[in-house]
Amino acid sequence: MSLQNLDNFIKDTVEPYQYQELIELVPEVIYKISTDGNLISLNPAFEKITGWKVKDWLNKPFIGIVHPGDIAKAFSKFQQSVKGERISDPYELRILKKDGSYIIGEFVSAPLYENNQIIGKIGIGRDVTDRKMAEERLNKLAAIIESSDDAIMGQKLEGIITSWNPGAEKLYGFTAKEIVGQTVLKIVPEDKKEEFYQIMEVARIGGSIDHLETVRKHKDGRRIDISLTLSPIVDSSGEIFGVSEIGRDITIQKELERRKDAFIGMASHELKTPITTLKAFTQLLMQLESKKNGTFFKYLSKMDEELNRLTELVTELLDLSKIQVGRLALNKEKFDLDEMIKDTAENVQGITKKHKIQIDGKSEKVLFGDKRRLNQVLLNLLTNAIKYSPEGDKVVVKVLPDNNKVTVSITDFGIGIAKKHQLRIFDRFYRAAGLSEKTFPGLGIGLYISAEIIRRHGGQIWVESIKRKGSTFSFALPLK
Ligand code: ADP
Repeated sequence: MSLQNLDNFIKDTVEPYQYQELIELVPEVIYKISTDGNLISLNPAFEKITGWKVKDWLNKPFIGIVHPGDIAKAFSKFQQSVKGERISDPYELRILKKDGSYIIGEFVSAPLYENNQIIGKIGIGRDVTDRKMAEERLNKLAAIIESSDDAIMGQKLEGIITSWNPGAEKLYGFTAKEIVGQTVLKIVPEDKKEEFYQIMEVARIGGSIDHLETVRKHKDGRRIDISLTLSPIVDSSGEIFGVSEIGRDITIQKELERRKDAFIGMASHELKTPITTLKAFTQLLMQLESKKNGTFFKYLSKMDEELNRLTELVTELLDLSKIQVGRLALNKEKFDLDEMIKDTAENVQGITKKHKIQIDGKSEKVLFGDKRRLNQVLLNLLTNAIKYSPEGDKVVVKVLPDNNKVTVSITDFGIGIAKKHQLRIFDRFYRAAGLSEKTFPGLGIGLYISAEIIRRHGGQIWVESIKRKGSTFSFALPLK
């Protein structure tokens, strides 16, 4: 309540004898200071706001309760009032609380009269600390948004843009003036509209989207690769009334990725021919060598083994680039799943003496799928199970048929995978990079390829694992 309002209120509605009652009720501090600068009256609100007792400060200089940095200002306002001036524009002073902290008070004041003589000043102060702090926080946030390189915008739930920072101007080409009040669809390319409706639906029910790689449209029509983060904006009653959207330009990153993919595709393709030739000549030499127990044959066998590893690596890289360009073809046929599992397990058993590969259960199903590719998945999961359980002595393959699907799971008792890595383990080039894992060779693309093969068969692949206890990788394939 301003001093003016209080004056009018009292004049219009209150009998003079009720002044005192009112002064005791108001939440603002009402105070009087004598011309010599001592506090001569304080209402109960003073105690509530500052924690002091009224008697702690009565007949003491008011300056004592003002923050040292604000004393000059407080004194000048005091002088203005005792010279007869009314100060109706609120001014702020920091006031000492009993606990040693300061509140921010907002004051208006006027001369205090008695028999037409000025005997000091009367004033009203209110605690605006919370409001000021909130304003300061908002200002800081606003400054961050203004100076951010990311495109930050606010939108209503129906997709109308409500705010647009300079980062967004730079990235999308529209000025805030041009686009605020317009629909976000202006920057969404035609082929991304469906996705846009889906993510808005997620935001509408309070969900967030984290770093979604997508495409937006510049004012000049050019496509921009961005990483998008979306969160709902909630009002004080908890109701969602809008969405905040942060877009980061990832054009350069994407271009580098495209170049890297092209390079991997080209390099693995170029490597394939000389490796095949080397492999053919090595095998020929092995056949020509008559002393199968001799040193010469032993060295040739070693070469042959390493060439197998090299072929595997190059094949993985080739598969990877096929996936990247959407050219991983499937040759589907009918085949006996149990037989395939048995054959693969036997083959893998041939390369490990330490681990016993045990098969539990049978599917008794004929599957329709790409046998060679599904075999590749099983082989990858089995070799991983062995590779990542150097201390283990067993790998269990469980086959679990169901009405409309069959689930195959491979359990090892090895190093396990920490929870934080489990979600990303099927990503391209992702390796759980703990210290111990550094000793295991690999490119981190086997699981990515496996996941793609299973996905292309309409199935699912997942992992359950406990660090240092072991892992179970499972895949489920639909039965048609
Ligand atoms: P690579 O084994 O060549 O690194 P993969 O794509 O097959 O690539 O596996 C990705 C990562 O997943 C591995 O680097 C490893 O950290 C983790 N991983 C895969 N299988 C297992 C397993 N059975 N136990 C523990 N970690 C595993």
